[in-house]
Amino acid sequence: MRYCLRQLIIVVMRWLGVIRLCQFIRRKQVVILTIHGVMDDQNNPVWKPLRPQLSRSKLEEYLRVLSRRYRFVSLSDAVEMLQGPKPMQPYSMVLTFDDGYRNNFTHALPILRRYNAPATFFVPTGFLENARPFWFDRLDYALQQAQVNGREVKVGSFTMCLDSSNRETLRESYKRLRRTAKKQQMSDLEFLREMEQLASQLEEESGRALSDIQEKDDWSAVITWEQIRTIGNGDVSIGSHTVDHIRLSLVEPEIAHEQLARSKRDIEIHTGKPCLSLCFPNGSFTDETITLARECGYLCGLTTKEGLNCVGDDIMKLRRVNLPTYGSVSELLARLCGLSQVLSCIKACLMRSKLGQTTGT
Ligand SMILES: [Zn+2]
Repeated sequence: MRYCLRQLIIVVMRWLGVIRLCQFIRRKQVVILTIHGVMDDQNNPVWKPLRPQLSRSKLEEYLRVLSRRYRFVSLSDAVEMLQGPKPMQPYSMVLTFDDGYRNNFTHALPILRRYNAPATFFVPTGFLENARPFWFDRLDYALQQAQVNGREVKVGSFTMCLDSSNRETLRESYKRLRRTAKKQQMSDLEFLREMEQLASQLEEESGRALSDIQEKDDWSAVITWEQIRTIGNGDVSIGSHTVDHIRLSLVEPEIAHEQLARSKRDIEIHTGKPCLSLCFPNGSFTDETITLARECGYLCGLTTKEGLNCVGDDIMKLRRVNLPTYGSVSELLARLCGLSQVLSCIKACLMRSKLGQTTGT
């Protein structure tokens, strides 16, 4: 009900021109969108990830509206505008794709080209060298193949019980597992080991593993160097997402340096172009990571912090907005112009004052 009310407010705001006005006020701030996989609308006959995925038709729907309100620019142009040498073009928007899924190339690229939208694909180079699924896809698949209802799983000091009574409860269990496991105090290498171990144990029980079908699987397959070389056209740039999709703030500086330097070098060897942009996996970085990244020769860094970017902002900590996998275009526009956040603040204030009244404070 509350969600419907919020939707109604947003639609009315759009109709009254408030969203346009907010966009006009923020026209000199650069919007950078984050996208991951882009999939078919039809159900994959083999499996469907529990994690929500953006469909081709949804991406097309978003780009159709956004292309009328924003100007798609490349990341390098946006960085030059934010740094000053290039004059800021109003309503600039950059599209970025994280994780280097093959479907970015096969499914998203044709849509991007229909709208003349340049993009940057951030690839974790180790997965291109040695094709294998990401732990989160591997575990997603494994949880759906094995009998896991009522099972206790342990990651670090955290234990939880899985509920696979139906797809929705399993989705919630998996979401909680990912979220809580990531908060455990451990090095990222140890974390990855534990998650891969859990997936491997489930694979043994079911006799089925995502790696067996990955090459033919549009959900989880990773792009190859050969496909990257065939992109041509200059409208897609390749940025680093480290070698092993490592959370850089949770490893020793030597490992972080190795991940940054090696991925940059591999991208430059395979594309023949300088790799100047870096996207921090899971938005994980420290000031030391940024110093290391600068030493390696990166010009800009992209985070998972939500927001827009103004001239003079630190280009090693660029903010982005996640392109939702579902929801209305009006909701997205409200989010991009900051109206959504204002509504959330108003709601939080109203809740606080209501709570204050009931507790008598
Ligand atoms: Zn990532």
